[in-house]
Amino acid sequence: MNLVLMGLPGAGKGTQAEKIVEKYGVPHISTGDMFRAAMKDETELGLKAKSFMDKGELVPDEVTIGIVNERLAKADCEQGFLLDGFPRTVAQAEALEDILANLDRKIDYVINVDVDKDILMARLTGRRICKSCGATYHLEFNPPSQEDKCDRCGGELYQRADDNAETVQNRLDVNLKQTEPLLAFYSEKGYLKNINGQQDINVVFEDIDQLLEGLRK
Ligand SMILES: [Zn+2]
Repeated sequence: MNLVLMGLPGAGKGTQAEKIVEKYGVPHISTGDMFRAAMKDETELGLKAKSFMDKGELVPDEVTIGIVNERLAKADCEQGFLLDGFPRTVAQAEALEDILANLDRKIDYVINVDVDKDILMARLTGRRICKSCGATYHLEFNPPSQEDKCDRCGGELYQRADDNAETVQNRLDVNLKQTEPLLAFYSEKGYLKNINGQQDINVVFEDIDQLLEGLRK
């Protein structure tokens, strides 16, 4: 079960990753965790990555790819893996193909949790926080009974600067621009499976589950 999980911010990718790992027991390999582990173990590549990060620079592809290579060669990945946050570019995707070919493996599915941009906007800009007690609400998922008042203490609700429409829009645009060529690459390879992420969380997982059950046969 060799999987790559994709999805824009707010698509619910993290929740689905947890559910996949819980049911199928494959290691969840996120770029952040991988970097942290390599730095903690002070591997040669980990130290290299750290030297770039300490300078506030981007870690070059060759270092990132090397770390992914080391991680996927570990014993716990023998039955499969769930890659999350890597690859981010077509160049990285091509490198991943080489890594897997060397391990005599290939990707089974690239699961893309697909949600329309306007729905992502609503999800990502809906958070409200109470000025007095810090309680958090979401206009869609956990709405306060009065739009700008805290149910708990009556305090005024506000929106964090990170959550405002312009910031969120920019973040989504950057992600979309990065993701599109990658989706095209995987579509052409025949790995891409789009899953409708606009359904209830459990229904989204049922769709993914159905796909993965097919791999076990
Ligand atoms: Zn409050």
